[in-house]
Amino acid sequence: MKDDRIPRATVKRLPLYYRHLNILSDQGKNRISSKDLSEIVKVDSATIRKDFSYFGELGRKGYGYDIQKLIQFFRKILDQDEVSKVALIGVGNLGKALLNYNFIKNDNMRIDLAFDTNEQKIGHSIGNVSIYALDELETKLKESGIQVAILTVPGSVSQQVADRLVESGIEGILNFTPIRLNVPDTVQVHSIDLAVELQTLNYFLKNKS
Ligand code: ATP
Repeated sequence: MKDDRIPRATVKRLPLYYRHLNILSDQGKNRISSKDLSEIVKVDSATIRKDFSYFGELGRKGYGYDIQKLIQFFRKILDQDEVSKVALIGVGNLGKALLNYNFIKNDNMRIDLAFDTNEQKIGHSIGNVSIYALDELETKLKESGIQVAILTVPGSVSQQVADRLVESGIEGILNFTPIRLNVPDTVQVHSIDLAVELQTLNYFLKNKS
C-alpha cells in the first residue's frame, strides 16, 4: 500500500509503532490509548493521533486503539507478511556484528547473503549466512531478487560498491559508511554514521540548557 498523501515523517514512525504494538500484544494487552502508547514510543500523543488519522478510523473515543487491528493494518502497510531478504556487503567488525544479530527480534527481515573481497572470509559463514566473493555480487543478487543491501565496506570503496548494487537492481541501501553516496533518485539510501550520531549526542549533552 502506497499513498502519497501520507507524510514521510509519519511513514518513518510506522515501524516503531509496529514493533511496540507487537511487544504489547505479546504481553497480552488488547487495547491502548494514544497517551499510553505515547509514553512507550516517546512520540507525543497528538502526533500519534494525527499519524493514525491518515489511515482512517482506527480507534474509538474512550476505548483507545485495538492493538490487534493496528498490528494487522500496519503489517499490511509495512509488507510484513513477507520476509524481506537483505544482502550485506563488507564482513568486517560491524558487518560481522550485524550478521550475528541478524534482526532476530524482527522475523520479517533477514540477511540472506553476504559479500567480501577478503579470501580468508569468502566461503565461510556467520550466523548461517554464507559469505561470497564480491565477484559474484551481480549474479547472486539477480538470482535472489534481493532489493535491499547493507553497506559496511570501507568508505574508500563504498561508492564503487554502491554503483554495482544499483546496477544489480538494489532499490534500498542502508549505508553505514561515512561517505554520502550518489545514486539515482529511484534508489533510497538511509545513512547511519555512528561517529556522527555520537558526536551529535555529545554536543547536546554538553549544551544542555
Ligand atoms: P577486518 O579487520 O575484519 O577487515 P574492519 O571492520 O576493520 O574488519 P574494514 O576495513 O572496515 O574492516 O572493512 C570492512 C570489510 O569490508 C572487510 O571485511 C573488508 O575485507 C571488506 N571489503 C573491503 N573492500 C571491499 C569491497 N570492495 N567489497 C566488499 N567488501 C570489501
